[in-house]
Amino acid sequence: MLNIQNVHKSFGENKILKGVDLFIDKGDVVVILGPSGSGKTTLLRCINFLERADKGSANFGEISVDLHSASKKEIHQIRQKTAFVFQNYNLFNNKTALENVTEGLIIGRQMTKKEATKIGTAALDRVGLSTKYDAYPSELSGGQQQRVGIARAIALTPDIILFDEPTSALDPELVGEVLAVMKDIAKDGTTMLVVTHETSFARDVANKVIFMDGGTIVEEGTAHDIFTTPKEERTKKFLKRVI
Ligand code: ATP
Repeated sequence: MLNIQNVHKSFGENKILKGVDLFIDKGDVVVILGPSGSGKTTLLRCINFLERADKGSANFGEISVDLHSASKKEIHQIRQKTAFVFQNYNLFNNKTALENVTEGLIIGRQMTKKEATKIGTAALDRVGLSTKYDAYPSELSGGQQQRVGIARAIALTPDIILFDEPTSALDPELVGEVLAVMKDIAKDGTTMLVVTHETSFARDVANKVIFMDGGTIVEEGTAHDIFTTPKEERTKKFLKRVI
């Protein structure tokens, strides 16, 4: 479904991605693990054109794009197929939970307010926020704000949701509620690419785990392979530190 090839990205002299290949099938839950600074977030941002790769290509189903030189039209096509869940939620503070979810449907998908409201309320119900349609972000906990972020993503019915460390800005006691929602939508067959430090999520939910270090994929396999019989020394060392 999504095939990413040979992604390179530098910031100044700093080579962050050094030729990353990635294949994700429909219904896959792929978790990317790796030390801080290994390029996980940058990879995700290059896939959605929040960053321009220096080199690389992507096939999204029938659409092929060059990740460096894609046109505005191609970027728009890819963004119609993807949704992004940000570490810091990226909600509009002056809009309610429901307005945050419907904004993309009205502006990006040209829906009427009525249609968008129907889909938006269902998405908020799905993440357990049926009593919070009219709440502003400042009236919500971090976990609730991130659940609005997830509702906004699922309302778009994208082919894939890209999660960029969705729980790392949360107080520890709020992490569980967000991971529970993510598990729940994974069970529904949502295709997900998740950058996270939550190894328990990777173990329980991922059907593929990728270990990145130094801008390359060092090892990938099932959660069972990676957690019980990692082959590469760097993977073993990392897992010893985080588990
Ligand atoms: P973490 O787990 O800490 O979030 P990561 O593996 O997701 O790390 P990235 O966020 O992709 O790593 O960052 C990789 C490197 O790229 C870091 O050294 C970071 O400082 C650098 N970097 C990321 N974005 C930029 C930018 N816009 N300008 C300059 N350097 C950047």
